[in-house]
Amino acid sequence: MTEKQPIYFLPENIERTIGKDAQRNNILAAKLVSEAVKTTLGPKGMDKMLVDSLGNITITNDGVTILEQMEIEHPAAKMMVEIAKTQEKEVGDGTTSAVMLAGKLLENAEKLLEMKIHPTIITKGYSLAAEKSKEFLKELSVTVDSESEDILKSIAITAMTGKGAEPVKEKFAKIIVKAIKKIKHEGNINLKNIKIIKNKSYGIEDTKLIEGIIIDKEKLSIDMPKKIINPKIALISDSLELKNPEIEAKISITDPGQLQEFLKRDEFMLKKIVNKIKEIGANVLFCQKGIDDLVQHYLSKEKIYACRRVARSDMESLAHVTGAKIISNLNDLSEKELGVSEIVEEIKNGEDIMTYVRGNENSKALTILLHGGSEHVIDEMERSLKDGLGDIVSVIETKKIVAGAGAIEMELSKKLKEFANSVSGREQLAIKAFAESLEFIPLTLAENAGLDQIDVLTELKSRHDNNEKFAGINIFNNKIENVLEKGIIEPKRIKEQAISSASEVAVMILRIDDVLSSKNNSKGSGNHANYPNFSGMD
Ligand code: ADP
Ligand code: MG
Repeated sequence: MTEKQPIYFLPENIERTIGKDAQRNNILAAKLVSEAVKTTLGPKGMDKMLVDSLGNITITNDGVTILEQMEIEHPAAKMMVEIAKTQEKEVGDGTTSAVMLAGKLLENAEKLLEMKIHPTIITKGYSLAAEKSKEFLKELSVTVDSESEDILKSIAITAMTGKGAEPVKEKFAKIIVKAIKKIKHEGNINLKNIKIIKNKSYGIEDTKLIEGIIIDKEKLSIDMPKKIINPKIALISDSLELKNPEIEAKISITDPGQLQEFLKRDEFMLKKIVNKIKEIGANVLFCQKGIDDLVQHYLSKEKIYACRRVARSDMESLAHVTGAKIISNLNDLSEKELGVSEIVEEIKNGEDIMTYVRGNENSKALTILLHGGSEHVIDEMERSLKDGLGDIVSVIETKKIVAGAGAIEMELSKKLKEFANSVSGREQLAIKAFAESLEFIPLTLAENAGLDQIDVLTELKSRHDNNEKFAGINIFNNKIENVLEKGIIEPKRIKEQAISSASEVAVMILRIDDVLSSKNNSKGSGNHANYPNFSGMD
């Protein structure tokens, strides 16, 4: 008899992990991701300093920002990062909580796997629990008057708490609420109408809301007017230059007369550009690309205010605010494509000179001029402002809030445990594991504030058993109390989204029992199983 030959059905460069190893490996990776962001959760969460390969530094407390910059390589860990991205995209906040929940769901699933409970039972239980949680969330959410400034401010403050905006959060909350109210149009809110401009000249407390928009560009020449009242604004996306460096032509000139002729023709063409702009009555010009020096000169002569290399997003905002149409070919420009506003003016903010376009009554665009001492501070402030803005939009659109500070998670957990008792079979254990995973949020809020987790958790449990469904751990005074009354409130939508994406990804990861990875795509290490970037982060 011949010796048994192994059979290869995969190419050599495929690395394969199967069964329990694959599961363990994936769960471990997911757990590590969750651990990595956990310390940033809540009002007393710490920040992370991330340094990329070019040495750029980001200091942040924001879950999705941290994960995006970590360059995570492990496939299961990447799926965790996707949770944060989806959460950010769909609701704009709650990224840390969502990732932590997924990590905990997987960690608790591992315990069940060790008890020889089949993954399909666990995933079934988890899906059931997620469905039920949504029903409970509906019951537990509170309908609010979304016109109430106090409610909206509380929402903004809860969202910004612990994000570096601490000393100015009242002020920021006011700015955000005011801004949202202004841009609200027939119940619709388009956050694109709120622009955030960052400026390092003053401290954060100087941050202010400005009607209209600010373009981070100064006028091209000092000979241009500083201020134009009732301007007619042209928006041109193409460059106003003659030479296109990509199609530079070679011209042979044989006598000086020819050269003169040639230069004159250029000059004539450039002059024509300015004439055209003037003819149709524009006195302000924003160009997305370059403007030739000579054109600048003629524009100044004609007292036209002009900015060049304006970002596309700014061009779009300008079109929105002023009603102008962005034109690519100058020949298509006519009077009806011009926009209007009350004023276009060059303003100085410390070192920076910018252009301020104040809209007319009907245009609803605003700018938050965000000041701060350093780039890192301003960037983090911007993220926190955006969390606040996103949360307010959620509440205005749905009118539903829940109690924060871990109260909603505790109550959901309690209800799920009760529900689990009505489920026969081993799924019951999975539902209980799901319920316990939710407790990870209040537990971590307490831990990050330096409180005793067990004390807090037992107290919270007994309060909820006593039907105090809004009992949460208020991190401002370290008391367990009715946090709804204290205004620690969050949009229901954040929790809904976090629960569904966390459970979906946990279920997806639990279903995997075979990982086939091509070794070639690993970044230089040649050994994919180690995921060097990833293991270094714990
Ligand atoms: P995420 O990325 O999940 O939004 P955060 O770091 O923003 O993470 O923390 C949000 C959590 O902090 C929520 O559970 C929220 O209820 C909680 N929180 C906010 N303010 C307080 C407070 N004063 N006391 C306790 N918890 C709070
Ligand atoms: Mg948040």
